[in-house]
Amino acid sequence: MGKKIAEPTAKRLFENMFICVKCNAKMRAQPDKVKKGKVKCRHCGSKKLRLKAKERRGMK
Ligand SMILES: [Zn+2]
Repeated sequence: MGKKIAEPTAKRLFENMFICVKCNAKMRAQPDKVKKGKVKCRHCGSKKLRLKAKERRGMK
């Protein structure tokens, strides 16, 4: 909180941030692992995750 984050760092954080399609839980994961279905939502166990970055429309 209150810390400044350099732009490249912030971008990287978003890139590894996924949202559970079922329960909307946020989690950080390696995109590679998500593609291979190795990452599960820790809340509902769903493997359906979407990239947080795609949610940034209109947030510029
Ligand atoms: Zn979930």
